[in-house]
Amino acid sequence: MTVLLRILIVLCSLTTAAHFLRFGTLWDAAPALLALPAAFFPRFLPRPLLALGLLGSALLWAEHGTELATLRMNFGLPWMRLALILGAVCLAHLGATALLLTGPGKKLFGPLSGVQVVKTATALMVGGVLLMAVDKTPFPLLLGDRFFPGSEIFWICLFAIYGAMVSGWLLADSRGKVRSRIWTLFSAVFFGQLLLGLAGFSIFLMTGKLHLPVPALILAGPLYRGEGFFMPILLGVSLLLTGPAWCSYLCYIGAWDDRLARLAARPPAPLPAWAPRVRPGLSCSLCGDCLPRCPHGHLGYSFPGLPRERARQVFVTLVASLHAVFLAVARI
Ligand code: SF4
Repeated sequence: MTVLLRILIVLCSLTTAAHFLRFGTLWDAAPALLALPAAFFPRFLPRPLLALGLLGSALLWAEHGTELATLRMNFGLPWMRLALILGAVCLAHLGATALLLTGPGKKLFGPLSGVQVVKTATALMVGGVLLMAVDKTPFPLLLGDRFFPGSEIFWICLFAIYGAMVSGWLLADSRGKVRSRIWTLFSAVFFGQLLLGLAGFSIFLMTGKLHLPVPALILAGPLYRGEGFFMPILLGVSLLLTGPAWCSYLCYIGAWDDRLARLAARPPAPLPAWAPRVRPGLSCSLCGDCLPRCPHGHLGYSFPGLPRERARQVFVTLVASLHAVFLAVARI
């Protein structure tokens, strides 16, 4: 049955991509093709996300088939063969979804764990925020879209998958290295674009005009201009959702502070047995580096009404989503 599931994923991915290819460019078809690697590398996409994608495609084919059959009926044209073909395509998608959610899916992708739910939630958050941002911004917001006009949906899907991977890496990281790496990557991409902008390549600047890379200007710039409030809203929502974690996951200047601090860092000693009485101070930036250091498991994230592990999963979903969104849109 796992072979059948693999075959169905490949066929569904190709047919849905072919459908989008008929209406536009390769960029419109590419997101459907992102399901292809998941058939052979199950870690590429979380199982619930793939199931949602297949279900969405099934609904698309059902709606498309009904529309075309009704059109043909209204014009007195033969419609039965078309309805049978598109109905079979829709059923294949539903069959793949059912297999994915039951035994064969579990065998191929592993049991439905909290990690898979976190990865799916992150991908949906990143995709949703970027779709909204691209829709509300009068200029091409994503860098890839500036070089390849009309490709925004492909980049949005790619960043959603990247966000899902980051949340999985953060949850599995027991040595506190992933946070530093993704943070440095974001800062390098951000300042790399600034340098290219300074060198005269205005395509790497947010609006084509340069301003100082001072976080306060994220607020001051739009207030002065009276427009372009997307970045201040993104900053405000990020601070509201993650609080001091801005300083340990998202600040493009703080990333270099972290890099330099790590040059001379010595591994901290394990916390002593009286650690339950230790509470993080006001300056705690929620980086989480101390969690794996306590051999007694006394340190953890907390949120009212949530058990410790669930609180960490919610936190990781938020910071991984914001990191992926920032990586996609943040530039001077
Ligand atoms: S107390 Fe822990 S989570 Fe807070 S800043 Fe220190 S290492 Fe990071």
